[in-house]
Formats: sequence, C-alpha cells, structure tokens
Amino acid sequence: MTDFVELEPVERLLVVVAHPDDVDFGSAGTIAKWVSQGVQVAYCIITDGGAGGFDLALDRTKMPSIRQREQTEAARRVGVSDLAFLGYRDGELTVSMGLRKDIARKIRQFRPDRVLCQSAERNYERIYASHPDHLAAAEATLCAVYPDARNPFAFPELLVEGLEAYSVNDIVMQASPNPNSYTDVTGFVDIKVAAILEHKSQIQNPEETEGFVKSWLAASAASVGLPDGSFAELYQRVSTG
Ligand SMILES: [Zn+2]
Repeated sequence: MTDFVELEPVERLLVVVAHPDDVDFGSAGTIAKWVSQGVQVAYCIITDGGAGGFDLALDRTKMPSIRQREQTEAARRVGVSDLAFLGYRDGELTVSMGLRKDIARKIRQFRPDRVLCQSAERNYERIYASHPDHLAAAEATLCAVYPDARNPFAFPELLVEGLEAYSVNDIVMQASPNPNSYTDVTGFVDIKVAAILEHKSQIQNPEETEGFVKSWLAASAASVGLPDGSFAELYQRVSTG
C-alpha cells in the first residue's frame, strides 16, 4: 500500500486545468486552505467551457461568458482573483505546440513553486475524470513545466517578450489513477461545495452534488488513514526540481 504524504503549502501555486469547474471539483478545498495560509494562487483555464451544461434551449454562443463568470465567482469563494482564460474550444483540445507555449508563457510570467494540474493518465476507475480535454491539458502542462518553461532555447519568442526561463519545483496532479499524497481539507469542505455550486450552468441537482462531493472526500480521507469526520483531496506529486 502507498504511504501517502501530506502536501505542504508553497509560496506560489499555478493551477492549469482544461475547463471552468475542474479546479473546484478537484481542488477547491486545498486551494481554500492554502490561500488561508498565505499561498499566492493563480488560475489558468484553458478552454472556454462552451461544450458544457445540459440546457438544450440555451444559446450556445452565450456559454463561454457564462462559464467565465461562474469560474470567477467560484474563485472568489476560495480567495483567488488572478484568473487567465486561454479561450481554446471546449471538447477539441490537443497537445499542440501553441498550447505548450501558452502554458510555458504563463509559468514564466507567474513563476510558481508548484503547478497543480490534471492527470495525463486515463483513470479507468473514474472515466469522467479522464475527459480527453483533461488528458491533453495535463500532457501539455507537463511538457510546459519540463522542458519548455525552463529551457531558454524553447520558444525563443518568449525571451523576446522578456520572459526568462524558469524551473518549477513540483507538480501535483488531481484525479490521478496513482495518488501518492493528500491534503487534509477538513474545515474547508463547505467552501469547496459553495465554489462548485457557483457553476450553476453545469449542476442540475445541487443537493445531490453536495452529498456526492462530501462522501467522495470522506472516502479519500479514510483511504489515507485520517480519522472519521475528516475530508481529504488526493494528488499524485511529482518532483520536477
Ligand atoms: Zn473538465
């Protein structure tokens, strides 16, 4: 059995995920906790979320702006106000050199100690966690951390923009099929649920969502040996320093 390690906060954290709402389902408890401990957090949301939701009557051209507003409100719930929306089309994400460059640019601008992203490995236990956009977002982020952001010869136009090469110390991946670490988010679950429920265009039954999130985080806490009444979010941490 894996010996799970509790993640320590760092000074600066960059979150890179595929869709508006991904960071909240996967990590809002952790983000709320770390922000309360003084961590500087920025979000980079890759797609516009235009393919999400359930309302067939809604004008689809309105969905990206709705989702941007919802993500901004959800971020406010956990204390994050630095958000970038890259605007890639939802549902069509691939690991392009353009995407790698956009993420490398964000890393060089924000200079985080740690990057939090999704998993590039398909999780066969939880197929919804492995949306193709998530896999592409994660793979592009891993490539941006190593080697793109740290290699001064990768994307030389970034140097021309005044962005020096920069090395990130570690990556933590949410929804990994192979978690090896956790955060104890007991005391932050209600904030997490509030952040998730800001994504109104995506959630048909708020009470059901709250129940499922709480039981999922309780099961995660039990799986790493925390006492009854605890809640945890799980990650695969990879050292990239
Ligand atoms: Zn997603």
